[in-house]
Formats: sequence, structure tokens, C-alpha cells
Amino acid sequence: MSVMVDIRSVHKSFGSLDVLRGIDLQVRAGEVTVVLGPSGSGKSTLLRTVNHLEKVDRGEISVDGVLMGYRRAGDRLHELPEREVLRQRTRIGFVFQNFNLFPHLTVLDNVVEAPVSALKRPRKAAVDSAHRLLARVGLGDKAGAYPRQLSGGQQQRVAIARALALEPKLLLFDEPTSALDPELVGEVLDVIRDLAAQGTTMIVVTHEIAFAREVADTVVFMADGRIVERGAPDEVLSAPREERTRAFLAKVL
Ligand code: ADP
Ligand code: MG
Repeated sequence: MSVMVDIRSVHKSFGSLDVLRGIDLQVRAGEVTVVLGPSGSGKSTLLRTVNHLEKVDRGEISVDGVLMGYRRAGDRLHELPEREVLRQRTRIGFVFQNFNLFPHLTVLDNVVEAPVSALKRPRKAAVDSAHRLLARVGLGDKAGAYPRQLSGGQQQRVAIARALALEPKLLLFDEPTSALDPELVGEVLDVIRDLAAQGTTMIVVTHEIAFAREVADTVVFMADGRIVERGAPDEVLSAPREERTRAFLAKVL
């Protein structure tokens, strides 16, 4: 299978803090990579660099063969203008811990907004597609509601529908269930599980170990800005080789 995400030797610092210290990671098309690791290990920063919400200091990231945020000219990399970065980003869906819905827009308009404004889709087509996506995440009856009228689990499912509206090649999830009450976690994981079953390429940062075991093709354990261990879920989750992975799993399981 082709490589959808290719992360090579990526370094990123904030001031004197080295947050990513040489990350290499490939995600093949149709596969799910789950990223685990303690708080502060650089998981969110890694996702943000993939989407070019953060620029890397060193290294390169390509998504579907396209270098994120840069153009190569001979041996040198040139930054793309912001408008082209935005266009690249439209093909990558990002689902945040805190939903980040537009509070003043209805559920339907939250889903319709990006295809109309970023992809210049006709509104009618975007609305039809939004209704289908809302049905797919189990919210066909909530199109006219506002985010504040929904539970956290429902809001996160709207956020997923909104991400899907751009027909992304890649979906990034940053702890999509961490802000939810425990009884609402399952409904969001169900939606992500369906996407996995349909062959959506995803990188999912989560502490839901049972879920990781079930959906991941590859599990990656990060600590201190490095990938400490990676492999099939059975290997990394059931028989970790590294002491740091074992210590982490003992805390979250
Ligand atoms: P994780 O998602 O694994 O908890 P993060 O990627 O959010 O880790 O953060 C890794 C480290 O980088 C943390 O120490 C965090 O405080 C720091 N950090 C993240 N973003 C910024 C930023 N924009 N400016 C300065 N420090 C940051
Ligand atoms: Mg984080």
C-alpha cells in the first residue's frame, strides 16, 4: 500500500524546549496509527506539524506525496505562501479534544461551512452532503440544533462530520474522548471505529488502550519527543519491550 504520511527526522523546539527530537513515522494509506505517550511527550505537537499548524525546525513531512508547507527547489526548501498552506490543509481533517465547533452556527452550518468557504462547493451540494454525514455519525435529527444544546459526545460527533465534509485523505484525532464524561466516550469511539473499518487513514492520539488494540494497525509510544517503541498493537500493548512503555501502560490500564 502507498504511504499516506511520511514524517522524516522531524525536530521542533519552542525556545529552549526540544519538543520533537527526531521523529520518523510512516502511515500507509488505509491504516490507523495510534499514538500513546505521557502528557508533554509531544503528541499534539506532532499532529500539528503534520497539518502544518506548526512549522518543523528540521526534517520533512509529506502527505500523499505532497510536502507540507514547502516547495522543493533543487536542494532547498521554500515555504509556501499561507494561502497554499491553507489549501493543503483542507485535505487533512483535524478533530480536537475540545470539539472547537462554531458556537453561533447550527450543527448543519458547522458541517457546511468549510466545504463552501474553503472548497467553494455550491451550498446546496454541501448541505445535502452534510445531512448524509450527520446521519452517518448518528445525528440526522440534530441538524438545526446549536452546539450548546448537545452533549459533549454529540458535539464531538459533529466535529467528526465537519472534518469528513472536506473529504480528507487523512484524519488526525487529538485525544478525541479526553474531554468527555465516561458514558459518552463509547459513542465517539464507535464513529472512529466505523471510519477505520471503511479504510480511512488516521493518526489517533488517545489513552483508550482497549480501543487502540482493536483499531490500530500500528501503535506508537512517544516519550520526551521521541518514538520509544512501535509495532503491532499486540506487541506494544501486550508485550512491550521498553521499560518506559511498560510503566506508562501500567498507569493508564
Ligand atoms: P502532549 O500532547 O504529548 O501532551 P504537547 O505536544 O502538547 O504534548 O507538548 C509538548 C511540550 O511542548 C510541552 O512541554 C508543552 O508545554 C510544550 N509546548 C507545546 N506547544 C507549545 C507552544 N506553542 N509554545 C511553547 N511550548 C509549547
Ligand atoms: Mg496533547
